[in-house]
Parts: sequence; C-alpha cells; structure tokens
Amino acid sequence: MKRASNLNRRMLLRRAAALASVSVASAALGACEWPSTSRPKFSAYPFALGVASGDPVNDGFVIWTRLAPDPFDRTSVPADAVTVIWEVARDPRMEGIVQRGEVQARRALAHAVHVEVRGLPPGAPYWYRFRIAGGDASAVGQAWTAPAIGATLDALRFAVASCQHYEQGYFNAYDLMVKDDPRLIVHLGDYIYESSWGDPVRRHDGPEPLSLSEYRDRHALYKLDRSLQAAHAHCPWLVTWDDHEVDNDYQALESEDWQDPAAFLKRRAAAYQAYYEHMPLRRIAIPRASGMQIYQRSVFGDLVDFAMIDNRQYRSPAACRTKEKGGGQVVTAECKELFDDGRSLLGAEQERWLNGVFSRSKSVWTVVGNGEMFSRLFQKTKEGVEGWWTDDWNGFPTARERIIAAMTRTKVANPVFVTGDIHSFWVNDVKQDFRDPASPTVATELVGTSITSAGVPYDVFAKLLPDNPHIKFFDSRKRGYILCDAGRRALTADLRFVEDVRTVKTTGGSLAKFAIEAGKPGAVKA
Ligand code: FE
Ligand code: CA
Repeated sequence: MKRASNLNRRMLLRRAAALASVSVASAALGACEWPSTSRPKFSAYPFALGVASGDPVNDGFVIWTRLAPDPFDRTSVPADAVTVIWEVARDPRMEGIVQRGEVQARRALAHAVHVEVRGLPPGAPYWYRFRIAGGDASAVGQAWTAPAIGATLDALRFAVASCQHYEQGYFNAYDLMVKDDPRLIVHLGDYIYESSWGDPVRRHDGPEPLSLSEYRDRHALYKLDRSLQAAHAHCPWLVTWDDHEVDNDYQALESEDWQDPAAFLKRRAAAYQAYYEHMPLRRIAIPRASGMQIYQRSVFGDLVDFAMIDNRQYRSPAACRTKEKGGGQVVTAECKELFDDGRSLLGAEQERWLNGVFSRSKSVWTVVGNGEMFSRLFQKTKEGVEGWWTDDWNGFPTARERIIAAMTRTKVANPVFVTGDIHSFWVNDVKQDFRDPASPTVATELVGTSITSAGVPYDVFAKLLPDNPHIKFFDSRKRGYILCDAGRRALTADLRFVEDVRTVKTTGGSLAKFAIEAGKPGAVKA
C-alpha cells in the first residue's frame, strides 16, 4: 500500500531503457557447468550481509548467506564459483559440530548459498556458520529443528513483522524483537521497497530498481542493516512477499502503471530472483521462467500449522482498474467486476492448496501468513456511498467468501490470520457473513503495524470503526510488530511498539494485549 505515486515522464523513459536491457533472470539458473573453483582473495570481509535461517522442519532447516565483500561491486567476488564450508553445532561456540558440508556460491545466484540441512533430531536448538577454507568465518546464527509432526508442543513464541521502508526509519523494532526472544519470525512482505516517498532518515542506494543487479543492490542495502541482521541471526524466519518486493500494487503480470506485461514479467523475474537470493528459502522456491513458489506450509508439533500464502503472483487484476489508476483504489458497488465469481486473490491452484491445509491441519492453531487485510473494511466514499479498497481482500469479496466457507467446511481448528501491508495494528473478528454483525465469528485476524513504513492516517481510518463492528482494535500511530505466544489453551498477541524510528534507539513497549481462547474464535483484550 502506497498512497503517493511519483511516476513522471523521465522515470517512464528510464524504465523503458532499463527493461530493454534487463536479463532474463531464470535463464542464468539453467546453467549447470561450474567453472573451476579457486581460492579467492576478497577485498574485504565476505560475510558482510550476515546469515539467516528459515523454514524449520522436523529434521532440519535452511541456512543462508551471500558472499559480498562489497555488495555493490559485482567484481568483489573474483571467482564464478567459490567453495563455502557450512557447519552446524549444538552450541553457540561451535564446539560440538554435528554436520559440516561444502556448497558452491555461484555468480549466477549472486554468490548466495542456501543449504537445506537435514537428518538432525527433531525439536532441538542448533547454531550454524559459514567459512571460507583457510579464511574468514561468518557470524554464528541460531536455528532449531521443529518438533515431530503431531508431537506435543506446549508453547511457541513467534513475532510477526512487515513493511520496513529503509528510508522511513531505523529498524529499531528488530532490536526490541530480539530482546523478546521469539523462536520464529514471520515476515509478511514489503521486506524491501522499490520506491521512495516521505521524509527520509537515510537513503536508498539509487532510484527504483528494474534490473536484476538493481534489485540485488536494494536487497543488499537492506541486509547491511545491523538490526535486521541480528533478527535473522536470532532465529529462523518464515517469509512471504507483498507488492514492494517488485512494484507497488502489482497484480500478477499487471503493473500499477500498465507496463507491457511481457516487459513487466522480466522485471518481476529479476525482482523474484533477487528475493530468492537474499532469503533463507527452500529449494522449492528456486525461481523459474514461469515464476517462483513461495507459498508453503510449516508444521510445529501438534501446536501450530503455518500456511504462508502468496497474495501477489497469481491474483486477478484489480477490479475496475483504469488507465489513471492501475493499482489499488476505492471503488463503489457500481463496480460489478468486484463481485465476479471468477476472480481470485490466490489463484485457483493456491486456493485449493490452502483448502488442503485447512483439511489436513491437526494443530491447535492454524495460522495464515497473509499479505493484506483479510477482513471486510467498509468505507464510505466522499459521496457517502459504500467503498472498497481493491488491493486487499476487500477487492476480492467472493474469493474471501470461498476461504471463509472452506474454513467452516473443513472445521479447521482455530484459524488465525496474521497480516501486513497496511502499516497499522488491527484486531478483527472474521465473520461468517461480514454484512451481519450477529453472524458467528469463524476466525481471528491480527494485523501487525510496520517496522518503519509511515502509518495510514489515523483520523481517516478511526472514523470507519463504527461501520465495522467486527474490528476490535485499530491504531496506526505506532511502528512495531506483534509478539504471539501460542499455547494449548490460548494464543496471546502483544502489540509491540517502538517509540521512535527516526533515531537509533530501542525503547518501546506494549500498546495492547489480546488473547484468543482455543475453541473460541475472536480476540479479547487481555
Ligand atoms: Fe508496506
Ligand atoms: Ca504492501
């Protein structure tokens, strides 16, 4: 969600020029001949972008790093392939090493490495690092194996983050989050921003990225942030993206400014590849010409099923988009397309997959990691008629009804949506029929605020609350995240805020606490 558009003619010209020369990202991935490995001499410390782990399963997890002595100079890693040693230990001092291996960091993937560590016992903490033979070692990161599926798990603490505009603030929220010591960080998108607006406290590396190397630079800039690195090293992450990883408000192959879809596909492929290169993702996510699969399920014992969904790659074009407004806008009920049965936010295949997660989940909680607001947000236009924001689930009311019907039909236990995008805290009852306040609550939605990105105008949105009785809480004035404690009887959500993002300081606290009782959808103030 971005309210200001800063496109002008010069930018359009620049885009056209850059798109003409953009490389097809996935073509490079097909290459499987590795040039011989040399013992590289780096100009500087090669692990400057830190380490990360992700996607814990019951016998392993993904570990990630990228060799980048100078992240903005592609020649700073001299060889096409560099052997990187990875090590997993039982202790943070890396004394009791339980697994060690070698992996090639290849130029085709910006010398990023993703290792899927397997074969470890379930439900145990591990530490990991990377090394160059006879040379530097990375920082040590922490990961863990998930408990066996179905094994008793009494508690899981996870943090929910989204929307971290680099220019709009320092990532203080991550310092506070690390102090809260979550076992898992769930990121719901807008991990990078492609564009600039607002009042910057620091600057992006350049103008809006279009090519693979420009998206790589943008990711590298974010990854250089000390607070973000600390949060990645602290515990495994589950990630999905929203729009700004590519372009504001894009919809599958439709861009906000009506770029030619074939040209936009190339841009999107570049953005997706750079995202893959910088995230601790499984092999299934390796980008292909057709796209990149990041929706996935993660199961933690018998306590939590996570379904991380992809709200961007497969969605139908925004309802009633116009030449002037190709992205999100508020439309009225006169937009008949809005109610078309054939429209989908997830795409048919992913919708079926999500229904399958609802059917199969045997966990106490089923958490859907969701890009944009799921709950109905009824707003009145200037003319006083009903209006709907087309870029979130309000732009896909029939698709939302199908998801709600699937939750009811499958009797999935305790569904909870955790949501990003809107730069504000919301606690919502998901109603079987949002039009009827007396209708049963079938799920709960917790919307986290942004790590830094400027909040939506408080007065404008606070005024909508009387027309939306299923909304229990709203505040857009704070930056922060949600700290969730899932237990067998209840899931508590602490809406955590930082006092300031315009200076580097880690003071903040709890704005409000809510609890969802197992078996009783809907959060109540704790
Ligand atoms: Fe955002
Ligand atoms: Ca967004």
